[in-house]
Amino acid sequence: MKSTPATPERGFITADAPSEDDLYKCVQCGFCLNACPTYLETGLEAESPRGRLTLMKAVNEGRVEMTPTVTRHWDLCLQCRACEVACPSGVPYGRIMMATRAEMKTPVKRPMRERFARNMGFNRLLPKPKLMRTFGKMTRFYQRSGARTLTKKIGVLKVLPDRYEYLDQSLPPMGKDFFVADGRVLKPQGQIKARVSLLGGCVMSMMHAETMQATLRVLVHNGFEVHLPSDQGCCGSLNMYAGERATARQMAANNVTALLSMNPDAVVSSSAGCGSTMKEYGELLDGDERAEELANKTRDIHELLADYGFKTPTGRLDARVVFQDPCHLLSTQRVSDPPRQILRSIPGVQVVEMAESTVCCGSAGTYSITQRDMSTRLGDRKARNIIATGANYMATGNPGCALQLGNALTRAGSEIEVRYAVDILDEVYRAGGDYA
Ligand code: SF4
Ligand code: SF4
Repeated sequence: MKSTPATPERGFITADAPSEDDLYKCVQCGFCLNACPTYLETGLEAESPRGRLTLMKAVNEGRVEMTPTVTRHWDLCLQCRACEVACPSGVPYGRIMMATRAEMKTPVKRPMRERFARNMGFNRLLPKPKLMRTFGKMTRFYQRSGARTLTKKIGVLKVLPDRYEYLDQSLPPMGKDFFVADGRVLKPQGQIKARVSLLGGCVMSMMHAETMQATLRVLVHNGFEVHLPSDQGCCGSLNMYAGERATARQMAANNVTALLSMNPDAVVSSSAGCGSTMKEYGELLDGDERAEELANKTRDIHELLADYGFKTPTGRLDARVVFQDPCHLLSTQRVSDPPRQILRSIPGVQVVEMAESTVCCGSAGTYSITQRDMSTRLGDRKARNIIATGANYMATGNPGCALQLGNALTRAGSEIEVRYAVDILDEVYRAGGDYA
């Protein structure tokens, strides 16, 4: 989507500013309010979609300056897009907020420390898969060598600002092995249903490599020829949502070339956040034909299995399982039944539903670090709803949600296991000897 050209009179001044067509679609009806997690938690209009849009219009018209007092209301938005689903007027809130975040980069002076961290993370680290893996290995060494235990013992983190202690606590345990897309092609036995390119991603490949391996086994078992193009990288989701659009575009362009290189029938992601971003590459790259092709071919793993069909497992799992809808699966990709269909196919599994299933868990990319109070409140809220189902397992399809809710359930003293739906399917296939 091309933004409306900026004019000097507008409060929004960059080429990435939200378009006026989008901004003025809101008719102020308020149907979105009770869908919004930050409104539910605060009850404040300024922390609602309608309030945030009103502020954007005021800035756009030059009635209000884009000061940090204004932008903190936009920073508190999770970009979960539950409001977009609830809106009867079709306000493209996600697109508007992404454009606003890009705009916020320029006039708003963020503190030096924050600008440094953003530049290092978004522009130096994330676009470079090899550097990311080096960073991941250093983190893994810190966590597994005893250095972390020693740091805690001698109290180093206590004398640093509390943000460092929280960052340390937020570091997810790095996997023993990383998943590397190394150019392999895995062929199924028998007839091939479809040829697919698989995105490794950054978080998934370093923290949940075993889920990526499970994804490979499930795909091959179900008749997919899987390509792992080696030139692919991070999907750019974190950059796109943080308003770092220049690097997000570079990362998207790189993935378009890499993931379409074998002319696959579909491009698959086992992370809802990555899949949702790839489905928006066409828009991010201003309608580029190849980017549109990749967007149209992208399928979330559950969606792909449901579309092409998958084998019912021979084994069984006697358990109550609740599926937690990642916002980037439910509200952005509008996929809700396929993961439940997969879980229901497992003999012995009883799929149960939680209250407030559409309310974000508070993970939202880097939100759990930048807005930790609201993130924790929403994580605890979601954990209460999960516990109330009496489930043995909580299944998900997104790494951020898995990490956030693993922590929230532990805080709540719950023993509910957090798993990916594809991990559960893979385990039951293995237990039943289906891979033999
Ligand atoms: S994207 Fe989510 S947090 Fe942001 S305004 Fe909409 S519902 Fe609220
Ligand atoms: S539901 Fe849509 S039109 Fe109504 S206030 Fe919310 S964003 Fe505006």
